[in-house]
Amino acid sequence: MPFHEQDGLRYYTFDIFPKTIVQAIFTRQGGVSPYPQNALNVGGMVGDKIENVRTNRIRLFNALGLTPDSIHDVWQVHSADVIFADAPRPMEAEYKKADILLTDNPQVTLFMRFADCTPILLYDPKLKVIGLVHSGWLGTVRGAASTAIQSMQDRYGCLPADILAAIGPAIGPDHYEVGEKVISQTRKAFGPESENLFEQHGNRAHFNLWKANQVLLNNAGVQQVEISSICTACHPADWFSHRAENGKTGRFGALLAIQT
Ligand SMILES: [Zn+2]
Repeated sequence: MPFHEQDGLRYYTFDIFPKTIVQAIFTRQGGVSPYPQNALNVGGMVGDKIENVRTNRIRLFNALGLTPDSIHDVWQVHSADVIFADAPRPMEAEYKKADILLTDNPQVTLFMRFADCTPILLYDPKLKVIGLVHSGWLGTVRGAASTAIQSMQDRYGCLPADILAAIGPAIGPDHYEVGEKVISQTRKAFGPESENLFEQHGNRAHFNLWKANQVLLNNAGVQQVEISSICTACHPADWFSHRAENGKTGRFGALLAIQT
């Protein structure tokens, strides 16, 4: 059962991960924000009240028995930059810009926000290292997923063959029509492999973000990849979708922590 309910919140988990980590991708249900009501928005820059965002964030940490103070989050900018979250991020500290979070500290909960971009969760069960990646089309052509795997090797000594990876709810190839800019940059980044990443719908090209990120992970040596195959634009009751809601929407939260 990939969906679970707790304290009025509904969240998704992956089957690939053992119980030695806490993992969840929260739907928009069970919060205090508009969009249009009772929405669990965790985005601080989408016009919602900061008190709402804070209440929602505390709610989802509590639902999983995690302390809200354990959070390490970032200002997501569609980069392939890494932050090693060796400790929780102090609440008063300024946000750092990055789209990859890694840690081996069980006191840290990695946290990111999404509305169509691909959430990628990573776990090396041997060395107990976790990672969270935010990868939209730009993060994908910049190789954020590849950089995450390389950084797990360099910093913690992880072997790609040991790493379990999961690709979460994101805009699917059925809904993700793209223009020439995305197509040309994808061709540049992926070479001949890019041909398998587009679907033709009439005279329009649709991009398969799920598959593109799977290719990046596979090419980095990660073979164990689970894909949720859930399109955010197809299921507006569960997910915020930037594309489906014309940019006027919230952000859903994804988190990952090593079980203590
Ligand atoms: Zn769809």
